[in-house]
Amino acid sequence: MIIAMDGPAGAGKSTVARRVAEELGLAFLDTGAMYRAVTLQVLEQGVHPSDGPGCARIAEELELGFDEGGHILIEGKPGEPDIRSRTVTLNVSAVSAHPGVREAIVTQQRRIASALAGVVAEGRDTTTVVFPDADHKFFLDATCEERARRRALQESAPERYEVILADIIRRDRLDTTRAHSPLTRAPDAQLIDADGKGVEDVVREILAHVGRPS
Ligand code: C5P
Repeated sequence: MIIAMDGPAGAGKSTVARRVAEELGLAFLDTGAMYRAVTLQVLEQGVHPSDGPGCARIAEELELGFDEGGHILIEGKPGEPDIRSRTVTLNVSAVSAHPGVREAIVTQQRRIASALAGVVAEGRDTTTVVFPDADHKFFLDATCEERARRRALQESAPERYEVILADIIRRDRLDTTRAHSPLTRAPDAQLIDADGKGVEDVVREILAHVGRPS
């Protein structure tokens, strides 16, 4: 069973996908965490984020996995919280835009999923490129302002709202206009509008579509 959930940065995909996985007893595949892990290594190894072959080599060599709670493991070690740093966030769109990086990571995502009975995969391109034949596909959307408000709340930093909003707008532009696997809604993905809804409302809506109302 594969449930794929796509959508722009900050729409609440991770939280919702994690909860849906919990409710259905499936593993949670946080694809953004994998691109963040590659970016972290790229920066640590002093490779420039614009160096496509250099970034791709790291993506190919890096061993990624997830622990029981769905948290990323880099070479068997926890990648949190380092993968969420501001420097990683600022560079992840550039690193993840390289075709070689995406090919290596998509291969790892399919390998991880095939070893499990079922997954809830979260991340842009999961419904279009990684798992186009997923059993259920969702596109979770919300306005830039709502997404920035949530991120600021999540980080307990309301004063950073404007900075976060600018970052979301910048990332959306990069992610939707890149040549390889741009962020788009698959025609057969169910659109879920998360504006003004709580996590549990969205989770219930998705479970109803999947056929197991909570
Ligand atoms: O979901 P999260 O904000 O952690 O993702 C970080 C970044 O990783 C995104 O802004 C995007 O550039 C990249 N990403 C991607 N493809 C995915 C998941 C994330 O390119 N499937």
